[in-house]
Amino acid sequence: MSNPTEFPTLSSLHDLTLSALERKLLASGVRPVHARALWRALYREMATHLDDRPDFLPPLRHWVEEATVENGRFPLEEPEAVADLKSSDGQTRKFLLRLRDGQTVETVIMGYPGRSTACVSTQAGCAMGCVFCATGKMGFTRHLRPGEIVAQVLHCQRALKAEGQAGLRNLVLMGMGEPLHNYDAVMTALEIATERGGLNVAPSHISVSTVGVIPGILRMARENRPYHLALSLHAATDAERMTLIPASRRWPLNELIAACRTYGAATGRRIFIGWTLIAGTTDAPAQAERLAELLKGIDAHINLIPLNPTEGYEGETTSDDAAQRFKAILQAAGFPSTLRQRRGIDVAAGCGQLRGEMISSSRA
Ligand code: SAH
Ligand code: SF4
Repeated sequence: MSNPTEFPTLSSLHDLTLSALERKLLASGVRPVHARALWRALYREMATHLDDRPDFLPPLRHWVEEATVENGRFPLEEPEAVADLKSSDGQTRKFLLRLRDGQTVETVIMGYPGRSTACVSTQAGCAMGCVFCATGKMGFTRHLRPGEIVAQVLHCQRALKAEGQAGLRNLVLMGMGEPLHNYDAVMTALEIATERGGLNVAPSHISVSTVGVIPGILRMARENRPYHLALSLHAATDAERMTLIPASRRWPLNELIAACRTYGAATGRRIFIGWTLIAGTTDAPAQAERLAELLKGIDAHINLIPLNPTEGYEGETTSDDAAQRFKAILQAAGFPSTLRQRRGIDVAAGCGQLRGEMISSSRA
């Protein structure tokens, strides 16, 4: 299991799993049983400070005082929303959150009352360089700590509560960054988010989306992580994939598909394939046929996502006809698929687009 002390900058209580917190308390001579009250404050009440807590018994109160006073060693993670936009259909709300070092990441709430999904970021920027992705264009700045990922979930949960809505139902790691390039922090954050006495997100309602980092996929299978895997494939040949995803050079398709088979066999879970539909390239019928061939024997569901136009990429989004034709070919080959709506396009819902726009408008 991941050990949070591995992180170079452990700087918030939100970085710790419940068992790591218990160990911290024990190391300071506080009985681990006190961790429950602290956990409840952090994740049930979603406290923004820990002063004046009559529910904390003296040893815990003292530990918290020491921990927070002493050079801000364990402050709470509280990113500030520097943008908060709602789409005109009211179905999407997007935040740009500023982290302590000034980095900003995007966090989105999607969906209907009672069935909301939070989409969170795992890195500031991304090293994978996908040509159609606004985050890819920014390049990589740094990994997020577990607490910075958890804080995004808390931010969404608080926003829903303030609107009088039911809490989050689903969590997807499809914001900025490549989750499996930041494996330990991501898995720690998910352990925190799924803890029953806290945020209590059901593991079966969590999707980890990857561009195809093979070692991470195999590790998820080996460790039997209870989350869904979404694989952003976008192309069915290595040559085409490399033009869209420069980093895929390291992970050839035959090895990637073999990793999917291993994952499917080890977990018994269906894999969700992400496929961006770009006019005249990835939406061509020949691509659909090759995709069906590639996935033969894999329990897969394909999510077809019309390209969201991004500055600096001249590809155009698919037409309805081409999208439907693509879907029909997959269906004839026995693969279920969903054609996604381009939801929240008016709030720049594409990955990294809001941050990109804020930066270019501040330069203007
Ligand atoms: N790095 C991970 C998760 C974050 S990206 C991954 O790539 O899977 C989340 C999803 O947004 C990916 O499926 C990606 O292909 C998609 N995406 C990024 N930019 C897009 C755009 N301009 N239009 C449509 N989908 C886009
Ligand atoms: Fe990174 Fe995903 Fe964007 Fe590709 S699509 S650059 S992997 S965030």
